[in-house]
Amino acid sequence: MLYKSTRGNYRPVSPAEAVTLGIAPDGGLFVPGEQVSILPEQLTQIKKMAYNQKATFILKPFLTDFSTKEIEDCACRAYSEEKFDTAEIAPLIKLDGQTYILELWHGPTCAFKDMALQILPHLLLKAAAKTGDNAGIVILVATSGDTGKAALEGFKDVAGTKIIVFYPAEGVSEIQKRQMVTQKGGNISVIAVRGNFDDAQNGVKSLFGDGQLIEELRRQGYKFSSANSINWGRLVPQIVYYFSAYLDLLAKGEITPGEKINFTVPTGNFGNILAAFYARQMGLPVHRLICAANTNDVLADFIRSGVYSRNRPFYKTISPSMDILISSNLERLLYELNGHDQGKVREWMAGLKENGEYTVDTETHKRIKETFWSDQSNDAETLETIKDTYIRYRYVVDTHTAVAVSVLRKYLRATGDTAKNVVVSTASPFKFNASVARAILGEEAIKNKSEFDLLEMVSEATGMTIPAGLRDLDKKPVLYTTVIAKEEMGKAVKEILIPNAF
Ligand SMILES: *Cc1c(COP(=O)(O)O)cnc(C)c1O
Repeated sequence: MLYKSTRGNYRPVSPAEAVTLGIAPDGGLFVPGEQVSILPEQLTQIKKMAYNQKATFILKPFLTDFSTKEIEDCACRAYSEEKFDTAEIAPLIKLDGQTYILELWHGPTCAFKDMALQILPHLLLKAAAKTGDNAGIVILVATSGDTGKAALEGFKDVAGTKIIVFYPAEGVSEIQKRQMVTQKGGNISVIAVRGNFDDAQNGVKSLFGDGQLIEELRRQGYKFSSANSINWGRLVPQIVYYFSAYLDLLAKGEITPGEKINFTVPTGNFGNILAAFYARQMGLPVHRLICAANTNDVLADFIRSGVYSRNRPFYKTISPSMDILISSNLERLLYELNGHDQGKVREWMAGLKENGEYTVDTETHKRIKETFWSDQSNDAETLETIKDTYIRYRYVVDTHTAVAVSVLRKYLRATGDTAKNVVVSTASPFKFNASVARAILGEEAIKNKSEFDLLEMVSEATGMTIPAGLRDLDKKPVLYTTVIAKEEMGKAVKEILIPNAF
């Protein structure tokens, strides 16, 4: 199997190259050059397997230059009981006869990014060995909160790698910051950048484009790499849990073989829901993919109208991991549904860059609407949904998952669809506990409480245990205190990597 760039101006590459390069040098994203299918009898064959075995089976046809043994090794290291707090890895919870929740937050950082970032470091190391790259891999990350911690947990103490995380000094929650600055590991650095997420993100982008710095580091035996969500190595492990959810429904007798179900996914950069799309393309019986947005409803508008426009206000919401106006992974969907027309993808992406918008042709739009449905949930509706879900089912959802539950209700009201629904739950309610506490305990109860007090309060009210990764964060020693200006990021990287650089 070879991978192609969505923009068509780069040669086809092997799976290992796609993973090590991350983004295609022509600015496009790598997509599989051939259709991968799973037959109904193969689904039966893997039904009873453990999660890591299912992962090996699903990843195999995409990573054709990896041996089964290598993939198995990566999957076993990633999806173990040492890293996840449940042997099921991605448990499926039944809310009622038509609604199920797929919990993707049992990894070390309590958010779904662990599902990919626990396995990516292992895939990346094996891929680098295949492409003959023996330079030490330096992962640079700019984070608005969740990705930084998940990448630190994934890469900590992985031999042959170093990881440097930049977070905006004024842009992350107290819990998110504590999660990062208390991180242990011999190969990591965590640095605050004065400014907001865009400052940190633009800084990292310019490091990737700094030829002089790259050359200097190459001479020292280092090479930059990225762990962000456009890397195919991060996307492909996410396909696995859609199969796992379907197989769990089958195993529990909730559906019959071949029965089509819907997935509702709280969406930001379009990575998670795109993995669901690939699962559907492979033959998983999926009817609709419901793309749930918050007030930043650029995707909902796009799916309804075929016009993608980022020329709109940006809102800070209580589901911050979905506060995004440019959903990078959408480019892959456009390629898959426009008849693999790379020229059109180039044209649309140029429109986005130059004018902040593009309009897809009617045929592509029709295909998108056949599979996807989308709407938004505002903060008030999201808080109401947390409360209502708690009262109705004694089940607590975080703000992102609540957006999905809220949008699923709108879908069911609008369509009367009777198919079974799986809501993809992307974070533990403890991770966004301030809003969760507000929803279920009320405004009065949470006044003047710190984020750490609120963890205790949510735990007491719901009887749920605070996850290990969030417990006692306020008592752990702070290991990283460096704060720099955005202009100093290159210097900071050199200080870390090159002894006596200054
Ligand atoms: C990253 C994230 C999302 C958005 O996922 P995408 O793949 O970017 O669409 C949703 N919820 C949570 C909690 C996240 O961390």
